[in-house]
Amino acid sequence: MNNLGDNISLIEKRHLKEAEQILKLLSNPARLQMLYILEQQELSVSAIGELLNLEQSVVSHHLAILRKFQLVNNKRVGKAMFYRLDDPHILDIVTETIEHADHVLRGKPHGK
Ligand SMILES: [Zn+2]
Repeated sequence: MNNLGDNISLIEKRHLKEAEQILKLLSNPARLQMLYILEQQELSVSAIGELLNLEQSVVSHHLAILRKFQLVNNKRVGKAMFYRLDDPHILDIVTETIEHADHVLRGKPHGK
């Protein structure tokens, strides 16, 4: 008979801590919207602000956080700063979560 724990692995502490930070930063409507629209198109700070109806300073603040965690990157074009998704696999979390939210909202089980 196996001891409990022989076949079960745990998340490494440093990964756990980093994952916690990433989920915390994703837990924000503005940042989720930003990742969602940046998946569709590279956008300037002012375009993001217009689309989400947010002040540029607020947009920049969120983008700085997303950039710190390597979720977006940026490039300067003339006077404008453009952002794009740096890490497409993080979008899997976002889209899966939205799909889950959709069937929960509709009161249906997964896949229906
Ligand atoms: Zn689900």
